[in-house]
Amino acid sequence: MPHILILGGSTEARRLAGELADRPGVRVTTSLAGRVKRPGAVEGEVRVGGFGGAEGLAAWVREQGVTAVVDATHPFAEAITANAARAAAMTGVPAVVLRRPGWHPGPGDRWHWAASLAEAAALLPGLGHRVFLTTGRLGLGAFAHLTGLHFVARSVEPPEPPMPPHTEVVLARGPFTEAEETDLLRDRRIDVVVTKDSGGEATAAKLTAARRLGLPVVVVRRPPLPAGVVAVPDLAGVLDRLGL
Ligand code: NAP
Repeated sequence: MPHILILGGSTEARRLAGELADRPGVRVTTSLAGRVKRPGAVEGEVRVGGFGGAEGLAAWVREQGVTAVVDATHPFAEAITANAARAAAMTGVPAVVLRRPGWHPGPGDRWHWAASLAEAAALLPGLGHRVFLTTGRLGLGAFAHLTGLHFVARSVEPPEPPMPPHTEVVLARGPFTEAEETDLLRDRRIDVVVTKDSGGEATAAKLTAARRLGLPVVVVRRPPLPAGVVAVPDLAGVLDRLGL
């Protein structure tokens, strides 16, 4: 019986699990890192926690009779993607990488690309004083030295220190509408937005809201995929590659 291991943590991973769990004769297991205390429901089997590097992942793949690995992790989850590529090479089990396309600026956008969170932080003092930060709860340390700026940081679960001294935390889980994002940017008198290039629909409304209000957006570029790895952009591409 085919046993598909989905490395999860993204909307697409959850959708893929739902798609595969419906197929008779296919076993599907989703692996979650365990960072979020209350992850949404996932169909099929679920396991939680790190494997112990590429070697640990390769061992799990062998022990559980995995026939294909789908890396559907978030585009910024660089370590697990590298581990998946190495584990595939070690075991000979095929691996497919699912990466939703990144965002692209449209007319009226005022985007500033940054290579890293540190580079994003360096750009901020020249762009505004009140910052809407949506780079995730673990990345606030890169901005902690910006003591003169005011931050509104949104994340699903409370961020961990270090973080900038003037930080208002907004706990919320997407998707968000353009109207909600526009209200938030107006209410908090935001003058610059910082985001990772996560791509996807669920969190794109902040970009259109920023465009509507004429605000600059600092966009952190995705890390590159491991050498030789080619990603597919959607579920159809994964199913095609799996021959399902
Ligand atoms: P990461 O830096 O790439 O991974 C760090 C370590 O966490 C990995 O070496 C692995 O530990 C473990 N890990 C990560 N994803 C795993 C998974 N799906 N199943 C089992 N172990 C996993 O990852 P991260 O950036 O901390 O992200 C952690 C998870 O959150 C990912 O699954 C990702 O999809 C999701 N996520 C990340 C972001 C982001 O911006 N980075 C945003 C939204 C969701 P071992 O080496 O011990 O196996």
